[in-house]
Amino acid sequence: MVYLKQNIRDIKSRIEVAAEKSRRDSEEIHIVAVTKNFSHEVVQLAVNNGLVLLGENRVQEARNKIGLVKGNVKWHLIGHLQRNKVKKAINIFSMIQSLDSLPLAEEIQKRAEQADKTIDVLIQVNIGREKTKYGIDPDDTESFIEEVALFPNIKVKGLMAIAPFKPNPEEVRPYFQHLSSIFKNIKQKFINNVDMNFLSMGMSNDFEVAIEEGANMVRIGTGIFGSRTTK
Ligand SMILES: *Cc1c(COP(=O)(O)O)cnc(C)c1O
Repeated sequence: MVYLKQNIRDIKSRIEVAAEKSRRDSEEIHIVAVTKNFSHEVVQLAVNNGLVLLGENRVQEARNKIGLVKGNVKWHLIGHLQRNKVKKAINIFSMIQSLDSLPLAEEIQKRAEQADKTIDVLIQVNIGREKTKYGIDPDDTESFIEEVALFPNIKVKGLMAIAPFKPNPEEVRPYFQHLSSIFKNIKQKFINNVDMNFLSMGMSNDFEVAIEEGANMVRIGTGIFGSRTTK
């Protein structure tokens, strides 16, 4: 498991280089370690090596792991959330990065109000307009946020997107540029009850390009833990 320490070190130094290129401090780039398919023992090693934000795609898998991982960590939901799982999700995740529809927002509002909580969310944008992916259409993102901003128990904290997969990460740069411009545009409108703090884009294959284009949160699985098929 020595590789894990080295992987994290490598990722951090690559983040530093990319942050420098965009004239930012690497300290402001948050790493979400994506732990799907990895056991709690492996996740614990990542935490022991200093990672504090953990990302899971499924509520049930997260529930099985969360109690077993020790340390001052925060769990983010990064996968599509079904409405019948909202009640459980708001109990275990400190942020839902995958808010992708109004009915889901309504359910989060209802359950958050019952639990007397405010839930931090990112709006998932389908930046490549792919049929296989969830998310709000880029052109509808601002009006969607204006609607979600009216829910008192939901706090919009930014945007999240998964770019189309391309073997060459340079090919995804235009998608990141597009999302970044949407992000900045909404941020400067200072919508009430909205804090555009986080731009979550970039995964193992393309995080450097994402950071160069303004990401301040990257979600990295295989780059830290290795291949999910040979875990
Ligand atoms: C799996 C996943 C990641 C991490 O992908 P890697 O290529 O393993 O870094 C990031 N974001 C989401 C939404 C994912 O589902």
